[in-house]
Amino acid sequence: MTTLPAPQGPGASAADPSSALLEVTDLRVQFATAAGPITPVDGLSFTVAPGETLAVLGESGSGKSVTAQAVMGLLPRPAGRVTGGRIVYDGVDLLTRPAAQVRRLRGPEMAMVFQDPLCSLNPVFRVGAQIGEMFRRHRGASRRQAKAAAVDLMKRVGIPDAAKRVDDYPHQFSGGMRQRVVIAMAIALDPRLLIADEPTTALDVTVQAQIMNLLAGLQQEYGMAMVLITHDLGVVADVADRMLLVYAGRAAETGRIREVYERPAHPYAAGLMASLPGVAGDQERLTPIPGAPPNLAALPSGCPFHPRCPYAVDRCRAERPPLRAVSGAGRAAACHRAEEVLDGG
Ligand code: SF4
Repeated sequence: MTTLPAPQGPGASAADPSSALLEVTDLRVQFATAAGPITPVDGLSFTVAPGETLAVLGESGSGKSVTAQAVMGLLPRPAGRVTGGRIVYDGVDLLTRPAAQVRRLRGPEMAMVFQDPLCSLNPVFRVGAQIGEMFRRHRGASRRQAKAAAVDLMKRVGIPDAAKRVDDYPHQFSGGMRQRVVIAMAIALDPRLLIADEPTTALDVTVQAQIMNLLAGLQQEYGMAMVLITHDLGVVADVADRMLLVYAGRAAETGRIREVYERPAHPYAAGLMASLPGVAGDQERLTPIPGAPPNLAALPSGCPFHPRCPYAVDRCRAERPPLRAVSGAGRAAACHRAEEVLDGG
């Protein structure tokens, strides 16, 4: 069962852009497709404070992974490009800097863990060499020093027999252990921001919990800011401070995760809560959100959620709802009827 976290950590209450380590403002990303250009990220804004964990939630195709790629300067080129907005990391607008400068931030400042560890690992190199490469490239470590540092990191991420396994190849590890290797590579240079994109999706449920606990523990130990991207609210509920719910490349709702959990302001958030065992409390009452994620090449008019929304009225089909403050500090929702949703109407 999903439990709710007590607000904790230095960034637990931080939604203040002035204290942000990462500030994304009105980000727009366009992709060229065979069906014409689509905009998977369409005016997204959020902040992450030092030491804070932000969960970015949404269905597949909602734009959350594209947002992470844009922040890291890893959008697939030439199909994808940022067409508007700002990505400010530690006071520097990354979109105005040369690609080489952004590349130098990857590793020592910002690091990323991807869904499939096999995408991050080279099958023909020993895992110790791949972890150690971070120290050789960025810190000028010798081969021997790099290997010792790799063993140390493998221990820290909970890989048993690290001194022996450092010479194994990726295919000799289970999926969960491979993801631990990737996490070791990501934290090797003590980054200030870790973005984990669906880090547990490819793993079975027991291992999912272990990896989330590992990430939460490392976040506390290293004091990193963390962005956890997931389609599964249950996976991040116990480790995130705040959440940003994304729908059709736009923010649907944002706020402290506990508050959104207890009293959602957007019908999409309310639907997610109703479909979550730990919140519904009764398996028989679980209610899936009807309908399918929107086609980005042919978005509905007005509110993109209106074809699936039980609260939809004529205004929703005509007017796009702006993200606006609702109920308390740091809460915002993009819904014309947020107050009624909050009241459970
Ligand atoms: Fe539903 Fe209308 Fe709110 Fe959109 S604006 S989420 S359609 S009530």
